[in-house]
This record gives sequence, C-alpha cells and structure tokens, in this order.
Amino acid sequence: VEEWNDKNSAVYVYKKIVEAYKGPLAGKIIEVLAEHGELTEDELAEKVGADEAEVRRVIWVLASEGLIVSHIIDRLEEKLRYETENIFYWCMDPNHSRLTFSEATENMFRCPVCGKTLMPYDNSELLAAIKYCISEMRKIMKDYFIEEKSEE
Ligand SMILES: [Zn+2]
Repeated sequence: VEEWNDKNSAVYVYKKIVEAYKGPLAGKIIEVLAEHGELTEDELAEKVGADEAEVRRVIWVLASEGLIVSHIIDRLEEKLRYETENIFYWCMDPNHSRLTFSEATENMFRCPVCGKTLMPYDNSELLAAIKYCISEMRKIMKDYFIEEKSEE
C-alpha cells in the first residue's frame, strides 16, 4: 500500500506540473490517463466532467507541446541516474536532508544539522516510484502525443 502511495505521488507531481502549465482541466486529464490508461475521447470527457470538444482542445494543446512531457521524462531519468549512482545516508529525521557517501564521509557520518549518526538510506521505494512514473509518462507519450501527432 505504501508503495502504491509513492507511485501515485509521482504521478501527482507530474499532474501538478501540467496543471501549472495548462490549467486544471489539463491536470485532470493527466490524472485520469495515469489512472485508467488508454481511453477514448468521450470516455475521457465523461471522467473529467468536461465536454468532448474541450477535452479534444486540451489534448491537442498538450500534444502540440509534447516537449513538456519529454522534458519531464529527461528530468526523471536524470533523477533516476542520480538515485542509482549514489549511496545515501540519513539521520532519519524527515526535516533533514539525505547525504551522499562523500558528503557523509566529510561529516564523519553525523548529520550536520542534529549531529545524530547517519544510517544507510534505502531508496528502493523511491527508485520504484521514479521508474513507475517514467513508464507511465512513456505510455502517455506513446498513446496521446506521438500517435495523435503523426495522424495530423
Ligand atoms: Zn539530522
């Protein structure tokens, strides 16, 4: 259940980004697509509670700016690389940040904020969430951006 929440929060972050760029309806569309996968335009319109023409317009806008999505995928892949290549240490206080191995060494394996001993941090759930988010974004790209665009 925890893991599922993490996965959802990755999609949630993406939704918030789209929402900021393109408004609440665009954000809602992303949320529904992430949840249900492939949908027809009228199914999508029904689920987001907007009329089909409006949904089509927003999808067209999102598709014509598919770069936003690929840019986000690039950023997620960068994050994934960073998380994969580094070992992290943490004092277990949610308000204090994690340190990489070299940072932890510099600080003699003590948190620079509270002085507690740094413990190895298991980022496997975070990695799973990022991977899930990347694969969902790729699906959205494939189903709604690349294909829609090539039909024009
Ligand atoms: Zn601390």
